[in-house]
This record gives sequence, C-alpha cells and structure tokens, in this order.
Amino acid sequence: MYHLSQNLGQRVAGTTGEIEARNYIVQSFERLGYQPEVQPFTYQRGNVVYDSANVAVVKEGKFKKELIIGAHYDAVRGVQGVDDNATGIGVILEVAERIKDLNTPYTIRFIAFGAEEVGLKGSSAYAKKMKNKDINNTVAMINLDSLAVGDFKYVYGSSGKDGWLREFALDIAEELSIDLQTNPGLNPEYPKGTTGDWSDHAPFNAIGIPYAYFEATNWEIGDLDGYTQTVKHGAIWHNPGKDNLAFIERDFPGRTKEHLRSFSHILTELTLTLKQNTRAQYMSQLK
Ligand SMILES: [Zn+2]
Repeated sequence: MYHLSQNLGQRVAGTTGEIEARNYIVQSFERLGYQPEVQPFTYQRGNVVYDSANVAVVKEGKFKKELIIGAHYDAVRGVQGVDDNATGIGVILEVAERIKDLNTPYTIRFIAFGAEEVGLKGSSAYAKKMKNKDINNTVAMINLDSLAVGDFKYVYGSSGKDGWLREFALDIAEELSIDLQTNPGLNPEYPKGTTGDWSDHAPFNAIGIPYAYFEATNWEIGDLDGYTQTVKHGAIWHNPGKDNLAFIERDFPGRTKEHLRSFSHILTELTLTLKQNTRAQYMSQLK
C-alpha cells in the first residue's frame, strides 16, 4: 500500500502511471514466487480507445474449483489513492504471501484489476471472457475496495441464498474477535447484507457468481448509502486532500494498520478454511 501510493505516480487508468503500478504488482507477485499473467484489454471512452490490463496469479488448491479474490489498482486523477485502492492491493499481496506454501481446499486466483474508476473496465473484461465452464468452476468472487479509512469494517454479499460467503466471513471474524459487520439495511435501496453495483464484484454478480465484498465505510450516516465513510471527515475516496497518507495518519492514527491487519487475517483464514460443504451449510441458513 505504501509503495503504490507514495513512491509511484498517479495511477490513472490508461496512463503510464497505471502501467507503473501494474509493473510493481507483477514484480511483487514474482518476488513471492508466483507466475503473474498480464491480461491486456482495451476500453473506449468517447472516440478514444485506451489500453489497460489485469494481473492474475493462481495459488493451486486441493480442488480445481476456484475462489477469485480481486482488487483494482487504478485511482482517480489527483489523489494518492491510499484508501481507494492501494489498500485492496496491499491486502491481496499480504494474503498471497501468507498462503503461498499452505494448503487451501480451493484454488485461489488473485486478480489486480485495471481501470475500475472509469467504469469497472478490468473486472468487466475479465468476467466477459469467462466461459460457462469457467463460471461453473468458480465458487465465488471476493472484492476488496477501500479498506482503511471508513469508520467500520464491513463485508457484503449477494442477495438471498447466494449471500452464503458473507455469512461465512462474518463467522470467521467473530471467531477471531474482529469487529466485522454488514450493511444494516437502513436504506431500502440497499437491503441488509448487500451493497450497490459500483465496484468490481458487479460484473461477476451479473453472470451469476456469488460475491463477498470487503470495505471500510459507515452506512449509518449521510444518505445511508455507504458513501459517507467517516463521521469526522465524510467521504475520503476521490478527494485529493483526504485520500493521502499524511492526512489519513494524522486524522485517523492507527486505523489503517488495524484495518489492514484485520482484513488480511480474515481473508487468510477464509482461504484456508473455505471447503466444498461450506456453501451448502451456509445456504441452508439463508432465505
Ligand atoms: Zn475503489
């Protein structure tokens, strides 16, 4: 998180800054002993075609069936993008390191998505390329976006029975004595346990893959839509004066470290313990 947000340029989609960030992620995965695959895609805005790419690595599990864990690495113009979303990439690299030589029941596919901020382009490109057999071979998709600064730690999930992975994550957090909650559903537009389709989980949700989505924000203030992240300073993301490390560390001392440690711990535990019968077990508790 630190290197991505402090030592590189701005990570605006389709620019050299985004390429620089991508190269760093490739090198980081290689250093951990993974073999990253860079998957280029293009997207169009107006009459201009832009280039970007996703970076994917695979950690083989006992079973061929996959759990996708993704986070976008691009950022909007003008910000360091510490919270949104160097934090998501930081946690991906941390969990990838921790489980590298451990046994996971499922195969884990980590993906760093490009061009999220211009309309979920990387995750859409990935989901669009998935064939029916790939979709059937994917147990769920976990999205990590903006983990540090929000007042509370959340996990959301698909509506109905497909929300089983959210319930499993909530139970893991409880066992670890980590304060993780879900959207309380105060706003009828975003029913309890779910969230909006504004991040990289959405294209996977649209093709029928259950999702879980980790985030730090505050659903009890502002328009009750999860956008107003903090009581103290409102929304942090996309704000040049706020989504930078000096501001975050001064006004929310210790929060980033605690959040990233907690999310890394939950995700590590989840990848190590998610089994083939987990889905059935948690689905049976949901309506
Ligand atoms: Zn984001």
